[in-house]
Amino acid sequence: MAQQVPLVDYLVLDEPPHLLAHECTQCRARYFDHRNACARCFGAEFRDVAVVGEGEVRSFTIVSFAAPGVAVPFVAAVVDCDGTSVKGNIINTPSDPDHVRLGMKVRLATYVVGTDSSGTEAVGFGFEPAQV
Ligand SMILES: [Zn+2]
Repeated sequence: MAQQVPLVDYLVLDEPPHLLAHECTQCRARYFDHRNACARCFGAEFRDVAVVGEGEVRSFTIVSFAAPGVAVPFVAAVVDCDGTSVKGNIINTPSDPDHVRLGMKVRLATYVVGTDSSGTEAVGFGFEPAQV
């Protein structure tokens, strides 16, 4: 099997793959990027927590125009994963309003974004419909 590296450092390519959030130890606010302090309570201590891989589409937009080389249309969404908001694309389903709906149940899915000259695969994530 090809060597794989995650496209973002909060994607963990375990079995099953999952996202890792930094959780404020005081108020439990969660962030995916690095924070020196919590935006909600100014706490400065964080622990890494695994985010559940199932969620519900909270909001989405169908993107029809993008930079050259970016395939359109695609669906950019905010998914509520048991209280943690995750930004990601809806994948493995047609990018139209007949297939993507608010409140739709989705689950984390990974895909190969690209392969470098030594065969290492870069892996990204999105969310796919939980019922297909
Ligand atoms: Zn906090």
